[in-house]
Amino acid sequence: MRARLAPAAPAWQAGAMANPSDAEARPAPRISFVSLGCPKALVDSERILTQLRAEGYELSRSHAGADAVIVNTCGFLDSAKAESLQAIGAAMSENGRVIVTGCMGAAPDAIREAFPKVSAITGPQAFESVMAAVHDAAPAPHDPFVDLIPEQGVKLTPRHYAYLKIAEGCHNRCSFCIIPKLRGDLVSRPSGEVLREAEKLVRAGVKELLVISQDTSAYGRDLKYAASRWRDRDVAARFLDLTRELGALGAWVRLHYVYPYPHVDAVVELMNGGNVLPYVDVPFQHASPRVLKAMRRPGDQQKTLDRIRAWRAICPDLAIRSTFIVGFPGETEEDFQLLLDWLDDARLDRVGCFQYEPVKGAEANDLGLEPVPDEVKAARHKRFMLRQQAISAKKLAGKIGRRFEVIVDEGGAHLAKGRTKGDAPQIDGSVHIATRRPLRAGDIATVKIDRADAYDLWGTAV
Ligand code: SF4
Repeated sequence: MRARLAPAAPAWQAGAMANPSDAEARPAPRISFVSLGCPKALVDSERILTQLRAEGYELSRSHAGADAVIVNTCGFLDSAKAESLQAIGAAMSENGRVIVTGCMGAAPDAIREAFPKVSAITGPQAFESVMAAVHDAAPAPHDPFVDLIPEQGVKLTPRHYAYLKIAEGCHNRCSFCIIPKLRGDLVSRPSGEVLREAEKLVRAGVKELLVISQDTSAYGRDLKYAASRWRDRDVAARFLDLTRELGALGAWVRLHYVYPYPHVDAVVELMNGGNVLPYVDVPFQHASPRVLKAMRRPGDQQKTLDRIRAWRAICPDLAIRSTFIVGFPGETEEDFQLLLDWLDDARLDRVGCFQYEPVKGAEANDLGLEPVPDEVKAARHKRFMLRQQAISAKKLAGKIGRRFEVIVDEGGAHLAKGRTKGDAPQIDGSVHIATRRPLRAGDIATVKIDRADAYDLWGTAV
């Protein structure tokens, strides 16, 4: 199926409120569009076109008169690939600013080889990447009639921090988890796309970027670490490369859901100074090899302890946060004791603990393992939290008398509340700040710590 899209009705015909003279004064960028391939590709084209119109772009009948051309390709058969390459070739010679998307975009090398100067290549269903490439090639002018969404998108977090999702889905198969069933395997966003979103957030006033995905350190594996364009350079879709570039944007960068793979060591090196915070959130889940095996997770917790020690040698101020599950089917008192002992050795900074729940559809329910009674789960949860409280209280007491940079979450004229670099919003502890000058949310203040309990710190802004 091949379709070159005709222009839609002019903007002033679509809405009674629009003023034709405004449209004439500021002509909207024009996009030419070629849609090739099957109905799924056509639906992708419709979605892109809908968004283009919603953002105020016009459609162009000809490549020559357009600000950019989008070619939605098909790569199903060799003949379809040849037709796609032909369509890209025509767009390159008639226009030159060409964004390639669709099935052929999943194998970008063939396209780059034939047309090294295409502006951007994205795979199928990469709707956000296509729109990001369009914004780069032909930015949509701000128009209050069509542009009701702030540049950085609609955010549900306070203005000074924002979550930045770098991938969707997961290639692991932990037996208690149904996320891969719900969301499929790992699909990473191209690094250029992530960085453009991060840049917009920072420009809009975000001071702290919270990097999330299901398995952040696996970022880019599905893309074979392919580079994508960011500013004047290519950036590999690699955890280290992406983190380094994010750290150069000027906001704090906090990494969540990092698994202790060997390549994470190089990322921890970035945490010694600069904006990549000395903080990793690593969901360890358990420490008993038997339980970890039943959970289908790496089972050598001694190696994990060695890795933690290595990270602390690289970055002495590193804060490690983790989550654990107690009462997993088949967990014995011996397994649980092993977990408590491991906790003593690991001396983690922040810890969350959940009692196992048999999620419908999770494989763990069918392993034939003895469920742990609810009262045993509750008792283990309590013992676990008490053990960690003692560790945490000792660690926080060690901060008394020291000075830390603190980002303010709740401002005030005399009292404010914030977090150190070692604390994420919502899940970790707070710093209660006494201050002589008013502090606003998003300010970063230096605070001298006066006292501590097992969770929070109290100090004075200096
Ligand atoms: S628990 Fe996390 S790593 Fe394991 S399958 Fe679920 S999402 Fe993936």
